[in-house]
Amino acid sequence: RTESTLTITVVGASGDLAKKKIFPALFALFYEGWLPENFSVFGYARTKLTDEELRNMIGQTLTCRIDKRENCEDKMEQFLKRCFYHSGQYNSEENFRELDVKLKEKEAGKLANRLFYLSIPPNIFVDVVRCASLGASSASGWTRVIVEKPFGRDSESSGQLTRCLMQYLAEDQIFRIDHYLGKELVENLSVLRFSNLVFEPLWSRNYIRNVQLIFSEDFGTDGRGGYFDNYGIIRDIMQNHLLQILALFAMETPVSLDAEDIRNEKVKVLRSMRPLRLEDVVVGQYKGHVKGGRSFPGYTDDPTVPKNSITPTFAAAALFINNARWDGVPFLMKAGKALYTKRAEIRVQFRHVPGNLYKRNFGTDLDKATNELVLRVQPDEAIYLKINNKVPGLEMRLDRSDLNLLYRARYPREIPDAYERLLLDAIEGERRLFIRSDELDAAWALFTPLLKDLEGKRIAPELYPYGSRGPVGAHYLAAKHNVRWGDIEEVEVQEDG
Ligand code: NAP
Repeated sequence: RTESTLTITVVGASGDLAKKKIFPALFALFYEGWLPENFSVFGYARTKLTDEELRNMIGQTLTCRIDKRENCEDKMEQFLKRCFYHSGQYNSEENFRELDVKLKEKEAGKLANRLFYLSIPPNIFVDVVRCASLGASSASGWTRVIVEKPFGRDSESSGQLTRCLMQYLAEDQIFRIDHYLGKELVENLSVLRFSNLVFEPLWSRNYIRNVQLIFSEDFGTDGRGGYFDNYGIIRDIMQNHLLQILALFAMETPVSLDAEDIRNEKVKVLRSMRPLRLEDVVVGQYKGHVKGGRSFPGYTDDPTVPKNSITPTFAAAALFINNARWDGVPFLMKAGKALYTKRAEIRVQFRHVPGNLYKRNFGTDLDKATNELVLRVQPDEAIYLKINNKVPGLEMRLDRSDLNLLYRARYPREIPDAYERLLLDAIEGERRLFIRSDELDAAWALFTPLLKDLEGKRIAPELYPYGSRGPVGAHYLAAKHNVRWGDIEEVEVQEDG
């Protein structure tokens, strides 16, 4: 530990993600003692800042966990002393050589490991990779690069980006981040499945009717639609976050927990899926809405969005995996902005109990009385299983109830942010939660034909009011596959009762 040094260079240090997520995550790792003894953090961007100005900027964003307030100020001070800044251009090898000189000063002749975090817009990824690898790679230890989405916008551009990165980096140096994979509940998916006897035997078409992957935000683009408009919700959420969860959910048992074994299984799932067609999706866009005397803007009211934009802010899709385990089981995805709620969850609806003895004792629709397993990824992490239960009393009446593992009740401590997990893994060379090139290719192969069709034919999205439950087309899509959206059903039950 003392013989080697670690430098973490955040490229794009003046930006939003660096301030909001990366520096706070690095501080949390430092506070908890996860960083090596000899580490330094460098910010790199064009903005002219002194070390002190960077420290002031970072200092404003650092917080301590609620249960870890002890020595918080001291720890912050110690951390900030290890932070430095270098101003430079993104396409200047010369400027990265200057950075290299500063890094060497801190490394003081010890084995030097270097991590670069590219927190910059995609159009300058390749420039930075070229200049950093030629001008500031480590000569003695490892050099790794974390790349943020978007990884292209279709198969061609993603392939081209990969080829460009590969000119300067080997596959094992590239850490493509998908921050959903760093979320506690997503990591727990494999634990739940592979280390409990009660789930894995049911994990197939024999017992599972459908699987739903749901992401919703209760706010719109809020004046920052410029980036979004070029991508849309399918690229922003489905092709990466939801598809990654799907692959983890549906993969066969890997040979081991080794990153390559897990990623091999995920790729197999993706390659067993049928590319999406127009009839498999519904797209929507939110429109302005007045509610309770307040008016909420539509997507095209955002001044950074073209007035005639047909970019989807909502999409629902039905996907199928053509293998022995999942043949015929619909995997339904739904993602949208400006909806009635903010959540991310995985819902697994099981088949009916064949010849249910208690059929006539259900007061409600028997169809609703199937078991459902829900993993609520955010907010308020929880795992709950909907079961049928006898209502206490002399009559035989059945009711749907929950076996509920609510994280804040069972584990009353703050859950680390996904960026902490992922940064630590990159430092430790653990690649399990990062996306390999072939996974990325397979993911784009599923969505690219659909995106081309949607855009080529200028398919108009179905408008839905800001704050609503999304376009009605999503219900028809689900109904076509004999599915009811579990999240909507849950609010309806709450509203009724
Ligand atoms: P950002 O604030 O727009 O950009 C980061 C920095 O890059 C800026 O401070 C700026 O630094 C430089 N920069 C911005 N536009 C540039 C341009 N056109 N040419 C050259 N340099 C430019 O981006 P961010 O929100 O921090 O996000 C960084 C990366 O993470 C992006 O790839 C984004 O897609 C991805 N991402 C962001 C979030 C998020 O929550 N923000 C979430 C997921 C993924 P200087 O002017 O000082 O050089």
